Amino acid sequence: MRQPAPNPDHTRMSPNESRNQALAARDLRHLWHPCTQMHDHAGTVPMLPIVRGEGPWLVDADGRRYLDGISSWWTNLFGHANPRIGAALKQQLDTLEHVIFAGFTHEPAIELAERLAQITPAGLERVFLADNGSAAIEVALKMSFHYWLNQGAGQKTRFIALTGSYHGETLGALSVSDVALYRKTYAPLLLTPVLAPSPDAYEAEPGESAEACAARRLGELRVLLEQHAHETCAVIVEPLVQCAGGMRMYHPSYLTGLRALCDEFGVHFIADEIAVGFGRTGTLFACEQAGVSPDFMCLSKGLTGGFLPLSAVLTTTPVYEAFYAEYNAGKAFLHSHSYTGNPLACRAALATLDIFRDEPVLERNRELAAHLARRLAPLREHPQVADVRQTGMIAAVELVRDKATRAPYPSEERRGLRVYLHGLEHGALLRPLGNVVYFMPPYVVSTDELDHLVDVAIAGIERAIAD
Ligand SMILES: *Cc1c(COP(=O)(O)O)cnc(C)c1O
Repeated sequence: MRQPAPNPDHTRMSPNESRNQALAARDLRHLWHPCTQMHDHAGTVPMLPIVRGEGPWLVDADGRRYLDGISSWWTNLFGHANPRIGAALKQQLDTLEHVIFAGFTHEPAIELAERLAQITPAGLERVFLADNGSAAIEVALKMSFHYWLNQGAGQKTRFIALTGSYHGETLGALSVSDVALYRKTYAPLLLTPVLAPSPDAYEAEPGESAEACAARRLGELRVLLEQHAHETCAVIVEPLVQCAGGMRMYHPSYLTGLRALCDEFGVHFIADEIAVGFGRTGTLFACEQAGVSPDFMCLSKGLTGGFLPLSAVLTTTPVYEAFYAEYNAGKAFLHSHSYTGNPLACRAALATLDIFRDEPVLERNRELAAHLARRLAPLREHPQVADVRQTGMIAAVELVRDKATRAPYPSEERRGLRVYLHGLEHGALLRPLGNVVYFMPPYVVSTDELDHLVDVAIAGIERAIAD
């Protein structure tokens, strides 16, 4: 069992004794951080320099330790500085760091494509590589549109996305996202998707089951498809859990119904498994729980175990064949990224897949998930908690101002930020999404470490709701 080392008492250090403070000051002179109002770092929110990772723990420059309860933005599966992935990378580093991926290939990419085709749902046999999640979404959207164009259906130019969805930050990916915090500023620059109501079970009618809610939402999607299928390329969804939208969860039957509707109306089904893929929801891929194969599956985040940026778009042979023609037919997919198929990233992905092959990862996760569920269950009775939900190794606690009406705390009160700050003081990295405190730990946590995470979160919630 790895417990947090007693943290040195920060308050007794003068600024020039703290390595953290020295590095933070240098950082703030030049760096601009993602998803951050930099002004926060002039006040109460620390900028934390991390010098080392050990399994699920992060260690800062002053030697303080934090349990990474969110897998460093949902990327890390098997711990920081994982020795097995590290060793594979070191070997690749001395062999080939990168090569142009047009006209050239290499074994790490070849083997990765073979193995991804093998482990993903049936029919996904063609693999296009990119270097982050948003880029994978761009690829899937462009490929779907271009498929229809190549089939003589150039009038299909729109996409259907779910309310509360999140697919990334680049303009195309943001276009099919519905998290207002990220989208509304850039709305004038974006494509306008058709929004279908999410099957999110939190938004179910009183007394309605998650499954009944999914069936009702499929009925609403059918109406939208009746109106828009002729101009629609694809429906894009995050299977089972809408993560950035607040860890909202839904019944797998929605995906089964979605597959049938996409077939009936002649539109593609894009599964964004960037966050939920690789065992996060209890199965290797979330789509498996509905027994469906999408037309496109986007993978990233956990793909390299959290070591390097890489993404993959898997699609079917019929889609591939719609682009396959003599050069002057002008049907090729001429999309590229400089680092497409980077051998180091592919090698990290292969080492990650080796761990899934050689260790009982999903079984171990089932035990961890059950432990987490037991520890979180008492929170259901909490007067400021409207919902405790879980899908595999994702669990979330929805804080509300009023349990009866489920009226949320105003976002200006930044209650979640208080949980974050409490976590840092007590050796845990928790980073709530608004009023949703969630747990998405690396798969190498122990039950004792989960206990630590939950204990810190519960104390953090008490502080966050006080006054
Ligand atoms: C994180 C995420 C993305 C974007 O991936 P980036 O690598 O951050 O660009 C897309 N879709 C989902 C579901 C995600 O969680």
